Amino acid sequence: MAICQLCKKDKKLIKAHIIPEWAFNFLYTKNGKSKPLIIVGADLYTKKRPIGSYDNTILCGNCDSLIGKNYDEPAKDYLSLRNITSGDVVEHLNHVDLTTLKLFLLSVVWRAGITGIEDFAMVSIGAYKERIRELIYKHIILNKHYVDTRGYDIIITRYSSKKHEKIVNDLICLPYNQRMDGVNYVCLFFPNAYKIFIKLDQRPIPNDLMAVTVDRYPKTAIILPLGDLEHSGDYKSLINAVHKAKN
Ligand SMILES: [Zn+2]
Repeated sequence: MAICQLCKKDKKLIKAHIIPEWAFNFLYTKNGKSKPLIIVGADLYTKKRPIGSYDNTILCGNCDSLIGKNYDEPAKDYLSLRNITSGDVVEHLNHVDLTTLKLFLLSVVWRAGITGIEDFAMVSIGAYKERIRELIYKHIILNKHYVDTRGYDIIITRYSSKKHEKIVNDLICLPYNQRMDGVNYVCLFFPNAYKIFIKLDQRPIPNDLMAVTVDRYPKTAIILPLGDLEHSGDYKSLINAVHKAKN
């Protein structure tokens, strides 16, 4: 028995995934044997993991399954390629409940921020541990329909790749804190080449970026294309890391 970090009750804690299992499943072979995963962190080191990292010291079974049902399951569908339509300059993510998507992303940030496991050492969320906990608690434990997610500005971006589409789409990097123009964000990565910036800061983000944040428009979220990974600064180290992990 130990204290669950979400409901704060003394309960039996279970193996809770920090990043949902579906974000890893695409790398499993069909016979059920798992291939080594390639996980690349901000400093581009690689790790092999038979399953996604989990922590058995943070959540009780009830809280973990409520997070799974309310956030992780719908998000799997939301972030699939079939929901993306291309525009002239940006892409659009359709058929998404934007509040659920925001709360899902905040719940991953929260899980990464409260776990002590080494893979998530690059995420630090300070006072947001309690603020995000309260938000999730109100929403899924107290069943409040409306929770106020204003202020948590989220920018969705996506890499593309002509040469290495499979690698880029299958890649999942460990999350980390990033500061841009004096504002603090946590960066999360998901399959299909998503890199998502979640603002954890009281300071406002620049107006031009504000125009593309997740709940700026009803029913659709804007995805900013990051362009070909091959032309990004990360590319060389990334491919080296992938080759190293294969050997
Ligand atoms: Zn609990």
